[in-house]
Amino acid sequence: MLKSLLIANRGEIACRIIRTARRLGVRTVAVYSDADAKALHVREADEAVHIGPSPARESYLIGDRIIAAAKATGAQAIHPGYGFLSENAAFAQAVIDAGLIWVGPNPASITAMGLKDAAKKLMADAGVPVTPGYLGEDQGAERLKAEADAIGYPVLIKAVAGGGGKGMRRVDAPEAFADALLSCQREAASSFGNDQVLIEKYILSPRHIEVQVFGDSHGQVVHLFERDCSLQRRHQKVIEEAPAPGMDAATREAICGAAVRAAQAVDYVGAGTIEFIADASEGLRADRIWFMEMNTRLQVEHPVTEEITGVDLVEWQLRVASGEPLPKKQEELSINGWAMEARLYAEDPAKGFLPSTGKLESFTIPHAIRQTQWRDERGTAELSTDYDVRLRIETGVSQGDEISPWYDPMIAKLICHAETRQEALIGLSKMCWDSRIWPVKTNASFLGTLVVMPDFARGKIDTGFIERHMDDTAYEVEPPQWMLDQVAEYFAERLYPKASGPRGLRLNASPQGEVRFSDQIAQYSGRWDSRIGYDQRLYPLIQDDGDAIFVTLQGKTWRFVPARTLGTVGGAASDGAILSPMPGRIIAVSVAKGDNVAKGQKLVTLEAMKMEHSLVAPFDGVVAELDAAEGGQVSEGTLLALVERGED
Ligand code: ADP
Repeated sequence: MLKSLLIANRGEIACRIIRTARRLGVRTVAVYSDADAKALHVREADEAVHIGPSPARESYLIGDRIIAAAKATGAQAIHPGYGFLSENAAFAQAVIDAGLIWVGPNPASITAMGLKDAAKKLMADAGVPVTPGYLGEDQGAERLKAEADAIGYPVLIKAVAGGGGKGMRRVDAPEAFADALLSCQREAASSFGNDQVLIEKYILSPRHIEVQVFGDSHGQVVHLFERDCSLQRRHQKVIEEAPAPGMDAATREAICGAAVRAAQAVDYVGAGTIEFIADASEGLRADRIWFMEMNTRLQVEHPVTEEITGVDLVEWQLRVASGEPLPKKQEELSINGWAMEARLYAEDPAKGFLPSTGKLESFTIPHAIRQTQWRDERGTAELSTDYDVRLRIETGVSQGDEISPWYDPMIAKLICHAETRQEALIGLSKMCWDSRIWPVKTNASFLGTLVVMPDFARGKIDTGFIERHMDDTAYEVEPPQWMLDQVAEYFAERLYPKASGPRGLRLNASPQGEVRFSDQIAQYSGRWDSRIGYDQRLYPLIQDDGDAIFVTLQGKTWRFVPARTLGTVGGAASDGAILSPMPGRIIAVSVAKGDNVAKGQKLVTLEAMKMEHSLVAPFDGVVAELDAAEGGQVSEGTLLALVERGED
């Protein structure tokens, strides 16, 4: 086994690799950019090397610096993770030429699978079914059109060098072909420097099925069954699961066998994934599943395979890279239960999934499910979890860390393993909905809602699922009154603890009352009644930081502050509270604490989204609080100043 390893990546995958390396006694070296100087992967590694400024093309994508970092720290091997340089054959070769171990396949395998047309030809020769279509050398417009006519519409034009969902055009009718071809070629030339295309039959109601394969340097290849990644948004995977719903044993054997042949055809060593597209209009059938492409690296969604097989794929990668044979034979591998993963992104579904950045002032994801029952607030589902599910979190951040705008906004992968699919999806939904994250916006509520949709629960999925159901997921959770009453009860408890006598006796000698509080955007009030007491539904979802409390409901988190701490007497508490309307940087503070200000007078200037925003006094008064410093970064909803009304 190798003794030291440099991880040429960041975020959750770097942390994931470090965890296994540490368990195996392998010394770890992290690399980091300016933005990641304090990142979790840097904190967790045994050593860390700075490799450049924040933009990835000036740090994580500079192979020479990474190799130099490995040399300088005496690391024996380099693990590329996924993304960045992981499928760069030239980098793999440079690592090997530098006398280091490349934790991945031979550069020749990466190259062979790099171009879509060459890969498809290779696969067809190896007896792997490929999507019907045209892969020819003749790129003349007329010939391409004739081939499309012969395949039958709709067809998909794909750039042979394409990737990341780019360089693809769906064509529904012969008249539209010529224009679509030109635009696809233009995009291919500018994005990939190669305008060659191939034509495929466009599969209606397609499912994305992929097979995990593993090869060693002794010529052995096994598969670790399939995953279904059909839930995609703009060709990006959102929910992944293993095994695939509706897959029967014969179909599984057919596609997993094809995947092993595909890997053998390129002498594959290490972890790889063969992606297939399935025409699922009549269920999954072996004769309607076709090879799409191979990913020559560890995949984002590898944990679901680990959960159902009990294999640590990173451990296998390190063993194979050290020259050891595969730890298990095909017949020793089997499927146990069901696993499902959701990609948690720092993005705001309510604003078209715009990335959200800032400091994670609150970040807690449940590790275990204690409750056995809960009800969807909209009343559409009542679900119970009276069984054991395993929750697993893969993340590269912890509470207090900063989500920077420089990299992929995925902040965590939430994984649930259970005996059955139904149990796994309920557990995953609960995990998403109970994740407490503030003030950074996430898709947690969206994810939790997706996986308990009736069609998803029935396995009626295809790659258009999310788009079709978008309206049902994109709802804003407004704090319901019962929750506000709970918050009021909570604050009342804090103000008048039980120890000092029956709560409420101090509040006008009544066992009930009203408490006002604010989430710094809006004001709320709740009624509490000590004769009723807590509703157990909410209790576990409250986190008290001594001043504010965080409350999470269905994946949305509020931070409530009791009105009195805002300091105003009479009138609404947030009347004069000047809050940052969006994350940004303070570029000017025009007043000092204690200043008299007139209505409309500029207090603080914020720069956000490349624009300046002036925050002004809402009425004549005094600056009672000022919590803004020039140059400071602020998140949305931060209290910057408090203006108290002047004497009338
Ligand atoms: P990229 O390399 O850009 O990711 P892929 O070939 O992997 O491109 O395809 C990306 C996605 O496009 C697939 O997951 C699938 O949703 C869709 N897709 C690809 N080929 C077809 C096809 N022939 N018919 C319908 N959808 C397709």
